[in-house]
Amino acid sequence: MIKQRADLHVHTTASDGTLTPEETVLEAARLGLGAVGIADHDTVEGVEQALAAGSMAGIVVVPAVEINTDYGSDEIHMLGYFIDHRSPELNAQLARLRNEREDRAARIVERLNDLGLKISFDRVKEIAGRGAIGRPHIARAIVEAGYASSLNSAFGKYLIRGASAYVPRHKLTPLAAMEIIRDAGGVPVLAHPGLAKHDELIPSLVESGLKGIEVYHTDHSSAKTRHYIEIARQYDLVATGGSDSHGPNNIKTVAIGSATVDLTVVDKLRELSLTKHSIE
Ligand code: AMP
Ligand code: ZN
Ligand code: FE
Ligand code: FE
Repeated sequence: MIKQRADLHVHTTASDGTLTPEETVLEAARLGLGAVGIADHDTVEGVEQALAAGSMAGIVVVPAVEINTDYGSDEIHMLGYFIDHRSPELNAQLARLRNEREDRAARIVERLNDLGLKISFDRVKEIAGRGAIGRPHIARAIVEAGYASSLNSAFGKYLIRGASAYVPRHKLTPLAAMEIIRDAGGVPVLAHPGLAKHDELIPSLVESGLKGIEVYHTDHSSAKTRHYIEIARQYDLVATGGSDSHGPNNIKTVAIGSATVDLTVVDKLRELSLTKHSIE
């Protein structure tokens, strides 16, 4: 039965997850899922390895990306499904976002140093490895150096908005992210709207080409899920879903497969991306 299910939102070591793309895909296959979406923050560097693992393990890998954008002082995350992960333009755009991530991380580390924490940016970069750097990697360095007892408390003490070392991110609008996704042949989908908490944006996003909404998500209550099922119906959006798993030993330790959708959702997304290709 579960073979008919897809977890369309999983992070890997290509961003701030703890399993490599290959390990992620093998785990999804072991769980009996029919498809898994590799949706790392601002990068598609894990997609190629995931696709290779998927064809070996007999599971569909959906190439994806999760682009972080800003709306006022809040964050809106935009998912892009079936993007052409080899597109040079896409990779250039994402490289620009990752450079901005690196600048931001460096500034956060400077603030931590100003606060008296002896943490080096080189160590943070080492922890991030080849992955798109983010606050979770800084949190790890903070815990490792003994300034916090857990990743969560490192976030609370230093890294969340309003905390002492918080630095706001670059400003990218949700519309700009949708454009990056569409230019790479992908399908723009609003990530975890229950966390974004800006439903009022949905009509204008739809007007600008939003095709789906992440209805099923591990941080959505059943009331929220019902609410977004209704929104998806109202605006004729594909109702997607996924766990947002970041792998074991991480801040958020939800398992792969803990939020899923029917495999037919994958076909809908694929069709929408092909339509786009054929128009161009
Ligand atoms: P960044 O991409 O650098 O802005 O960091 C965002 C990541 O940090 C998200 O993917 C979450 O996994 C994690 N994160 C964000 N806010 C919190 C928080 N308040 N507590 C724990 N983890 C968080
Ligand atoms: Zn993350
Ligand atoms: Fe997100
Ligand atoms: Fe995510």
